[in-house]
Amino acid sequence: MGGSAPVVVQSMTNTDTADVASTARQVAELWRAGSELVRITVNTAEAAAAVPRIRDRLAMMGAEVPLIGDFHYNGHQLLSDEPAAAEALAKYRINPGNVGFGRRKDSQFATLIELAIKHGKPVRIGANWGSLDQALAKQLMDENANRAEPWDAGRVLREALIRSALDSADRAVEIGLPAERIVLSAKVSGVQELIAVYRELAARGDYALHLGLTEAGIGSKGIVASSAALGVLLQEGIGDTIRISLTPEPGQPRTNEVIVAQELLQTMGLRAFTPLVTACPGCGRTTSTFFQELAKTVQEHVRARMPEWKLTHPGAENLTLAVMGCVVNGPGESRHANIGISLPGTGEAPSAPVFEDGEKTVTLRGEHIAEEFVGLIDAYVDRHYGAAGAT
Ligand code: SF4
Repeated sequence: MGGSAPVVVQSMTNTDTADVASTARQVAELWRAGSELVRITVNTAEAAAAVPRIRDRLAMMGAEVPLIGDFHYNGHQLLSDEPAAAEALAKYRINPGNVGFGRRKDSQFATLIELAIKHGKPVRIGANWGSLDQALAKQLMDENANRAEPWDAGRVLREALIRSALDSADRAVEIGLPAERIVLSAKVSGVQELIAVYRELAARGDYALHLGLTEAGIGSKGIVASSAALGVLLQEGIGDTIRISLTPEPGQPRTNEVIVAQELLQTMGLRAFTPLVTACPGCGRTTSTFFQELAKTVQEHVRARMPEWKLTHPGAENLTLAVMGCVVNGPGESRHANIGISLPGTGEAPSAPVFEDGEKTVTLRGEHIAEEFVGLIDAYVDRHYGAAGAT
């Protein structure tokens, strides 16, 4: 992680960590969806005691996913009292704004860092707009009041967040934690603020950075806000791990945040996880919603096959697909994909030409276009990425 390594997708559970079965199940779901790191809350002695059991249960399920322990207020105590948890976790996440208060803050921070050194673990020092180090914020406000040209309050708070993360990281290095085992984050909930904060963090330090728009929100708002903020930063080469902090819609799986993170990285050309479908939005030239349904069927099919293809057909994640609604852009867009289909629009003959690597190969007709097109995709993957067809 860090440097030129690929950007890593992270997620977080919302189960009670003390509930071993539920937490292990959700971690495994997030891992199967593609989460490469999963963070769990460690907030009580019961939760800390559960960590090694969750680790064991995941191993039995074949889910070798690194777990990050999320600590607030009592992390120094929990990690000291439960060495098995300290060992089972792959990383500790601490928040410099609530490691401790008053005189105890420095000693509790030092204890956490010493435990990370003892167990050979990296640490994410994650400052957050919602739990800013109040003593530091007050100090910077006082300093600002003495400036010839005082900054606005927003800039002072941004500076407090950045300083909280950077100063804590420098202190951890002084205590003995190697700088390459430190990851920083400084999360806010506004897109422009997040971009400004991370540009500063990247310019003022060499630490690996975890990106995330905190409390991004629900549904399309959360997806758009996170993608807008993280897209700008990733394009500038800023960010080593990412999380999309979506509020799950009722009935929707928690794994959606993993899919959004993957799609963000893949649509930006930074990583490939699963074949993505290019589909037109449809317009007055389309007679039905069939092409929308086909686009959905195709996307769900390749996503469902990908865990198996990952093992048996390496490289299949780079496959490009197109499902188009009529002759206007259909054949052209389909020719740009590895495999694409152009469905008939209003007034067009009821036939659907299929293109593979720019060449028309077959025309589908009748009731079973969806099944036949999915079959053609599987055959293409076999020929190009299977053991016999790999080139
Ligand atoms: S490809 Fe055809 S159906 Fe799709 S948006 Fe363009 S004109 Fe409309």
